[in-house]
Amino acid sequence: MSTPLIDPFLRPISYLRVSVTDRCDFRCVYCMSENMTFLPKKELLTLEELDRMCSTFVRLGVEKLRITGGEPLVRRDIMTFFRGMTRHLESGALRELTLTTNGSQLGRFADALFDAGVRRVNVSLDTLDETKFADITRWGRLGQVMKGIDAAQKAGLRIKINAVALKGFNEDELFTITEWCAGRDMDLTWIEVMPMGDIGNEDRLDQYWKLDDLRARLGERYTLTDLPESTGGPARYVRLEETGQKIGFITPLTHNFCESCNRVRLTCTGELFMCLGQEDNADLRAALRNHPESDAVLEAAIRSAIERKPKGHDFDYSRQTVDGRVSRHMSHTGG
Ligand code: SAM
Ligand code: SF4
Repeated sequence: MSTPLIDPFLRPISYLRVSVTDRCDFRCVYCMSENMTFLPKKELLTLEELDRMCSTFVRLGVEKLRITGGEPLVRRDIMTFFRGMTRHLESGALRELTLTTNGSQLGRFADALFDAGVRRVNVSLDTLDETKFADITRWGRLGQVMKGIDAAQKAGLRIKINAVALKGFNEDELFTITEWCAGRDMDLTWIEVMPMGDIGNEDRLDQYWKLDDLRARLGERYTLTDLPESTGGPARYVRLEETGQKIGFITPLTHNFCESCNRVRLTCTGELFMCLGQEDNADLRAALRNHPESDAVLEAAIRSAIERKPKGHDFDYSRQTVDGRVSRHMSHTGG
């Protein structure tokens, strides 16, 4: 293996999140507008390019790959890509291959994902109420996601539920969702809504439910024990002593988590974002497409991008306005 990727703040970069499409079969209100214009196909990295890109990162020391989007499982033939990554799991270079999905296609792909070496999947789900689910996702059907979760568990995949904490929307489901996850042996992580992209009329400040508040409410019913573990990311975890379950909190806004950041993000068009909350990025697609003969230029472009990884993001709601907003949608960078 070549020299590992270390950023200017001495953080080793071992985790790559890859958005494989900007398209989705849902239109979640905090993520997309109803009438999205998606990128033309030629802008996207092909499956072969995705393989070459990810393999290069693995050679440079990336040990964990998370595939996301948009909805990764609506990308045509995406299982070809997953199966391609299996060789890096088998060689031991890659420690984990995983994905974040809305769950709608898990019924079709759960077994194939397991066969490709995926063991854990994050499923995004903000409510257990069918009507509210249809409202928040605009196009989604809760029943289909539930079938997907069933299929995934049956296939042997471990599921973590990710829920966006939304004031006035799922506050009243805090305990129902917690107990549902406990009953199905699934961990649960709450995410603060972030100021990504222009999504029309939805008002971020109205939606924003502080996780400190959510945590305090959980504490009224359960005994919370802080867990020391960190995945190098924004999540902090507690254990609920009564259920034994692990609950995560992703709080980019109320707490800064950047000092231990070990990750970078690749968009579906091959731009590398060194920080989710900053605009600076590197065009790796050009380095890859213009140099089919070898990966040397691509490797150099990756190294030079990592040298520009910023210390942290600037999201801030504390002044009652949305500061540090970034213009791109979460579905472009990959959540
Ligand atoms: N479609 C897949 C899914 O929904 O899991 C993967 C992509 S989605 C962009 C990844 C995660 O980002 C989801 O858990 C979603 O809830 C979250 N997300 C989207 N927009 C967000 C926002 N503005 N603030 C916080 N989380 C957001
Ligand atoms: Fe699609 Fe995921 Fe965005 Fe919802 S959060 S619109 S499922 S990409």
